[in-house]
Amino acid sequence: MINKVEVSKQLSELFATKQKNAKLNANINFEKALKNENFKTSFYKIRSLQFDLSKLEDSSNEAKQILKQIEEERKTLNAELKNCGFTKDDLKPQYECKKCNDKGFINNVPCQCYKTEQSKLFLKESGINKQSLPQFSNINYSLFGDAKTQENIKHIYSSAKDFIFDNTQTLVILGKTGVGKTYLSECVLNEAINNRVFSIFTTAFNMNNSFLDYHTSNYLNKQDILSPYLTCDLLIIDDLGSEIMFDNVTKEYLYLILDTRQRNNLKTLISSNLTLEQLQSHYDDRVFSRLINKQAGNKLFNMTGANLRFKK
Ligand SMILES: [Zn+2]
Repeated sequence: MINKVEVSKQLSELFATKQKNAKLNANINFEKALKNENFKTSFYKIRSLQFDLSKLEDSSNEAKQILKQIEEERKTLNAELKNCGFTKDDLKPQYECKKCNDKGFINNVPCQCYKTEQSKLFLKESGINKQSLPQFSNINYSLFGDAKTQENIKHIYSSAKDFIFDNTQTLVILGKTGVGKTYLSECVLNEAINNRVFSIFTTAFNMNNSFLDYHTSNYLNKQDILSPYLTCDLLIIDDLGSEIMFDNVTKEYLYLILDTRQRNNLKTLISSNLTLEQLQSHYDDRVFSRLINKQAGNKLFNMTGANLRFKK
């Protein structure tokens, strides 16, 4: 099960390693350059000039002269560096992400690179292999049934693809078992990850277990159990309605998740085998209103067609 504490720990280790490696590589290059006697002499000459400079008043003539000398010596140093086969950049840490220098955060806000790594980790945690996820471009619509059904499916798939980028906040896909709802959700997940959207894919069953963990947990950072669901940019809930109804838990936390996400303008994709009427009676009006709230930019589709699971 997803554990945010473990994920943040792993991510902070990952980013620390990225930074360490970038610095280490720069150091290794520097050590190599130091093996060149001319570079070494020039480097230590600058060092000693800088030391002399530190003892002088900035405005003094002597200081100005030393600064000039340092400038001249730097030219020699750079020329020697070239002779060693290095550029100036090779001696600086070369971070993978130029935006955050592999810190993962910019002013305490997660960088895009952090979100990408987070998505990858969550995928790994949920046992999903990115390579095995289906792609929108590979869909064979002829499998879905007659021409009319195909048209409907094409419309739903294209809306689901646009969903990642348009103003739709919550997308609800209803349909019987086997019509391809999970397949569609996985296409959306793949597309979202390709676009560096921090996404979580969960079954309603697993998410509901997290709700129960949260509800019954006493430990200090229990907020971490729910925070992935509350804060990820895209939450995909598969098979809503298949979970066990726990009193004071299932409906309450589901409402909390849906409501918080809508208020924070975060996207949620939900699939369910239930009909609209069943959803309404299965949950309560509060949850239901968060599912079908058209003012909040929600869209709802009914997927029809033959059972694809029997077709393969
Ligand atoms: Zn970054």
